Amino acid sequence: STVLVTGANGFVAMWVVRKLLEEGYHVRGTIRSASKGDYMRKVFEDLGDKLELVVVPDIEKEGAFDEAVKGVDAVVHMASPYHFGAVDPAELIDPAIRGTLSILQSALKYGTNIRRIVITTSTAAMVRPTNTPIVFTEDDWNDASIQEVKEKSRDAPGYIKYFASKTLAERAAFDFVEKNKESIGWDLVTIAPPYIFGPMINELSSPSSANASLAEWYQAILESAKSPEELKTSGNAWADVRDIALAHVRAIQQPEAEGRITVSADSFNWHDWVDVVHSLNPSPYPPNSYVQSDPSYDPKTAVRLLNFDTTKARRVLGIDKYISMEQSARDMLEDFRSRG
Ligand code: NDP
Repeated sequence: STVLVTGANGFVAMWVVRKLLEEGYHVRGTIRSASKGDYMRKVFEDLGDKLELVVVPDIEKEGAFDEAVKGVDAVVHMASPYHFGAVDPAELIDPAIRGTLSILQSALKYGTNIRRIVITTSTAAMVRPTNTPIVFTEDDWNDASIQEVKEKSRDAPGYIKYFASKTLAERAAFDFVEKNKESIGWDLVTIAPPYIFGPMINELSSPSSANASLAEWYQAILESAKSPEELKTSGNAWADVRDIALAHVRAIQQPEAEGRITVSADSFNWHDWVDVVHSLNPSPYPPNSYVQSDPSYDPKTAVRLLNFDTTKARRVLGIDKYISMEQSARDMLEDFRSRG
């Protein structure tokens, strides 16, 4: 069967495409310009001729995906801006919402074979500010970020604009399904990952041009971008990109999957990664390349604020083992190292 993957050249999408090809699916990937396809074709040339790339220059345009959805059995919609540098919130929010509605609209009209649509949301669409640890579930919605963008508009912090874009796009998707439930032949699954780390198979010229999560990790660990205090007290949750790709593939395959599903390996403080990289032996970089470890940090007593209940992912997607921090860090560092 054929799966349509939007934003197919991205960090996470490339791993999804790879897993799908390995499992024998035909993949139709959308990219914004033809030039992004050359590198992809090279990466996947050993996996046969089941990859088809189509150019969708503007995902916000009505009917943008009309041709792309024809004949496919499932969709993974991943194309969405992911960065914290937007000034005008619309720069993130418009493509996130309109891109989502545009693919759902095209699927409704022309996706006669489609049985499942998987949209990549984020735990960003669940969290709220907190000073004490919280375990978030699929029932939590980040309405606070929407409110903050409404109030502060351009003056809202960059990450809040991104959080709002993911929350609004995911809500729009579920609203669309509710409104059209009589006429659609597919069901919707949203996969909510936290920070995604791990090795890259996407095109990359230098570490600083990595996607937002890897760039932040690289800057924190190898360029001391976070203060010692920040390293010890701030963090989030994370999962390896290969586990997240697997979750997307399972979300297509498992008939009982529906609704929102959080996929997360564990919570972390940034200093936990500092300890991990210093423990690697052999180490991909000389140990003094890494930000210094602070002996006053005690991982056993440290507080990790953002935690996620992953019971549903275990039950519905069968994801019960996650790649470890050591493995993820090692593979990611070797990758950065090899790309200079
Ligand atoms: P990348 O930046 O590597 O990939 C983003 C993809 O979306 C690229 O193909 C990009 O195309 C495309 N895209 C971005 N903006 C637009 C736009 N305005 N119109 C059309 N296409 C666009 O990021 P990731 O792989 O990390 O992210 C993939 C998805 O996963 C996103 O939806 C993101 O929100 C979500 N996510 C990521 C997490 C992470 O930690 N990485 C965590 C949780 C969710 P182009 O290359 O042409 O710019």
